[in-house]
Amino acid sequence: MSEKNFETGAIRKQLERSQYQEHTTPLYVTSSFIFEDAEDMRASFSEEKQRNIYSRFSNPNTSEFVDKVVQMEGAEDGYAFATGMAAVFSTFAALLNSGDHIVSARSIFGSTHTLFTKYFPKWNIETSYFDIHNLAEIENLIKPSTKILYAESPTNPGVDIIDLELLGAIAKKYNLLLVIDNCFATPYIQQPIKFGADLVIHSATKLMDGQGRVLGGIVVGKSDLIKEIYLFSRNTGPALSPFNAWILSKSLETLAVRVEKHCENALKLAEFLENHSKISTVKYPFLKSHPQFKIAQKQMKLGGNIVAVEVKGGLEKGKQFLNSIKMCSLSANLGDTRTIVTHPASTTHSKLSEEEQLAAGITPGLVRISVGLEHVNDIIKDINQALNS
Ligand SMILES: *Cc1c(COP(=O)(O)O)cnc(C)c1O
Repeated sequence: MSEKNFETGAIRKQLERSQYQEHTTPLYVTSSFIFEDAEDMRASFSEEKQRNIYSRFSNPNTSEFVDKVVQMEGAEDGYAFATGMAAVFSTFAALLNSGDHIVSARSIFGSTHTLFTKYFPKWNIETSYFDIHNLAEIENLIKPSTKILYAESPTNPGVDIIDLELLGAIAKKYNLLLVIDNCFATPYIQQPIKFGADLVIHSATKLMDGQGRVLGGIVVGKSDLIKEIYLFSRNTGPALSPFNAWILSKSLETLAVRVEKHCENALKLAEFLENHSKISTVKYPFLKSHPQFKIAQKQMKLGGNIVAVEVKGGLEKGKQFLNSIKMCSLSANLGDTRTIVTHPASTTHSKLSEEEQLAAGITPGLVRISVGLEHVNDIIKDINQALNS
C-alpha cells in the first residue's frame, strides 16, 4: 500500500489493529496506561522506552492524528493540542527565553496578535511586526536577540500571500527559526517545510475538522524542536483529548476531496463577485487580480476557501450586507461545510485599535467569506441577494 500519495496516506495511515481486528481505529478513552512491572515503568518514565504512559503526554488516538499530519507536511515529528491557540502559545513558550525577540507579520490571527502584544511582554519577550507588503523591512527588524520569524499565509482575514521561499532564505541567513501558521492553506494546498519552515502550526478546528465540530491544534516540524515543545506541554497540560483526536484523524481521511471542492466553490464565487457592482475589491489568491497571484501560484496547489471582499459603502453597508444574509451563517469559525460570513472589524479583530486594524489590512467594509460545500449556485444566490438588498 503506497502511503506516498497524499490521499492514500490520509486514509491508510492507521494505528495497529487490536485483537478485535476492527476496520476503523477505535476510540481509546483512557487517561493512563498500565506497565508490565517496575522495570517497565522505570524505563518508560526515563524515556528509554517509547510508549504511552498518561494521556496528557500521549494517547494512541492523538498519535494517529499527529502521525498523519507529520506525513502530510513532510515533517519529522509533532505534538497535538486542545486548540490552535494552545499550539501557538506552547510553541513560543517552550522555545523562547526572557529577552528573546520575535519578528512577525503584522497580519496574523487576532489572538496570536494579542499574545504577542499583551502577554509576551510580561515575560520580556518583544515582537516587531513587518508589513506584508514590504518584506524588505524584515531584515532591518532582526536583532541579535531575534529567535523566531513568524507568519501566516494566506493571511487572516485579508487573504494576502507571503513569499515563503523568501522567508525561508531570511531565516537561514540569520539563523532564525521559521514558524508558519498553515491553517488557511492546509497541508493539501501548501507545505511550508519545503520552503524552509522549521515548524508548522495548525488550528485543526478549521479545515482539518472541516465540519465545525471540535477544537484542536497541532505543531509539526524538526524533531529536536518538537521534543522541547513536547516536554513543555507534557508538564503544562494543553493536550488534545482522545475523542477530538479520533474525530480529527477521521476528518483527515476526507481532507483532499473536501479542500478540492471548497477551493472550486471559492474560485467560482470570487469570479462572480469580481464583476459585482456593490463590491469594490475581491481578494482571492487564485484570481489573476490578486496582488500576489504569482507567489500564490508558486507555493499553493489551490487558492484556499477564503474570499475577502470590500463592500462599497464601508462599515454601514458591511453590516447591512451581513443582516441581509439568509442561508450562509454568521459565525466566528471558518473552514466548515457551511459557508460562513464574518465582519472582522466588529468581531474577530475588534480588540485591535482602529490603527492596528488598518495596519493588519482590516478596512471597515471588509467581509470575509469562508466558502463551504453547499451547491455553489446557492452560495452565489444568497450572497448576491444580500448585496443587492
Ligand atoms: C482559528 C485560528 C487559530 C486559533 O485556533 P483555535 O483552534 O481557535 O484556538 C490560529 N491561527 C489561525 C490562522 C486561525 O485561523
